[in-house]
Amino acid sequence: MAHAVSVPDPDPVPTPGAEHVRTPGPDPVRTPDPVRDPWRDAMRLALAEADAAAPAGDVPVGAVVLAADGTVLSRAHNEREAAGDPTAHAEVLALRRAAAVTGEWRLTGCTLVVTLEPCVMCAGALVQSRVERVVFGALDEKAGAAGSLWDLVRDRRLNHRPEVVHGVLGDECAAQLTAFFRSR
Ligand SMILES: [Zn+2]
Repeated sequence: MAHAVSVPDPDPVPTPGAEHVRTPGPDPVRTPDPVRDPWRDAMRLALAEADAAAPAGDVPVGAVVLAADGTVLSRAHNEREAAGDPTAHAEVLALRRAAAVTGEWRLTGCTLVVTLEPCVMCAGALVQSRVERVVFGALDEKAGAAGSLWDLVRDRRLNHRPEVVHGVLGDECAAQLTAFFRSR
């Protein structure tokens, strides 16, 4: 004799559209920025270079120098502690290395990309090197000499004034510095 088998109810068929499924959406659309966007890749290199400063206890600041065609001529990070040298800022080291590569102290047509706004010393070195452009990430409101406290690189009394682009990956650059100072 057939035995009635109790069959559990199948799962209720979901009603299309009844469920609200939270799916990760696309990244928020970033407004294209024709001034800053071309320097984002170079700034990522500078950020990676800045990471190399931390093991010696140096403030993580990184810089790269690009030739006019975009070739990376040099990279450097802050080595003030590592070298015991008050002038061993990332920008100064990157400029020296770029000049060593090109064999020419004039870095005409070159762009220096750095994670933090240059100080007075570095702004002076940038003017002296005749770079075409300075690109930086985070503002340095306590010591910046490219727009914050001073604007040495664009002082009209100087006969060479590099173009300045600021705020490239600015949040990432600032976060890297904040994380370093919090961890101390
Ligand atoms: Zn400096």
